[in-house]
Amino acid sequence: METTMTELEALLMQRSLTDPELLEAASKASDFRILPNASVIKIGGQSLFDRGRAAIYPLVDEIIEARKQHKMLIGTGAGTRARHLYSIAADLDLPAGFLSQLGSSVASQNAEMLGQLLAQHGISTVSEAGLSTVPLFLAEVNAVIFSGMPPYKLWMRPAAEGVIPPYRTDAGCFLMAEQFGCKSMIYVKDENGLYTDNPKTASNPTFIPKISVDEMKSLGLHDSILEFPVLDLLKQAKHVRQVQVVNGLVPGNLTRALAGEHVGTIITADQEA
Ligand code: ADP
Ligand code: MG
Repeated sequence: METTMTELEALLMQRSLTDPELLEAASKASDFRILPNASVIKIGGQSLFDRGRAAIYPLVDEIIEARKQHKMLIGTGAGTRARHLYSIAADLDLPAGFLSQLGSSVASQNAEMLGQLLAQHGISTVSEAGLSTVPLFLAEVNAVIFSGMPPYKLWMRPAAEGVIPPYRTDAGCFLMAEQFGCKSMIYVKDENGLYTDNPKTASNPTFIPKISVDEMKSLGLHDSILEFPVLDLLKQAKHVRQVQVVNGLVPGNLTRALAGEHVGTIITADQEA
């Protein structure tokens, strides 16, 4: 049964805003997805942009083809330039909120570069992805590019330790997908997906095609292929209950993932039954 406005209103006037009964009443409205037909894809910073032309040109070709069938919000990662900035700023003992702004500028640079490559196809980079003109771009050209960094800036919630901003572009893109109730969240990186250990440094790690958030944590993989806060965001999500990590260096993977195929690692909020 849906709570009537007057009941909810009464609770809101009388109770604390975190009162359990109030929270329950406030979540009773029926589900509504703002952009249910669009997918969010994140193009990795270190994993793809930093490889330059060899990685980005084929992806651009794939995006141009894919957008005939699929609506895409294309978020960009930051990568090595941001890591360089973080190392200097951390050494200067500057705070997480400031580092967040530095990282943001790098993700924006990648979004601007991708925008130049897709400009002749009518695909634009928006500076603020929080809706505004996003629906119009999706309706007209099926795609829009945004900087993946969430705009917390100085208000970035610091991690328990250190000054590296915990919510970076993996989190920013996930929050877009969840906020808009998108169809899927696809992380495009440079490995086939999740392994039992980092394939760049471990000798013979095993590939994991599908895993839940809890399993990932119990295997100690909570801080591996995705920024660790994404796992908790995924677990709490209302709409986006799984994400897929795919290898963007393999042509066709992104298109197949957009079509709902399992081509990389699927990370699920829930345990498999
Ligand atoms: P992005 O470019 O999107 O920021 P990252 O470079 O942060 O992507 O994350 C992808 C990288 O995560 C891979 O290139 C890989 O080296 C690393 N990684 C660490 N642990 C794992 C793991 N267990 N399985 C797969 N990749 C891992
Ligand atoms: Mg990363």
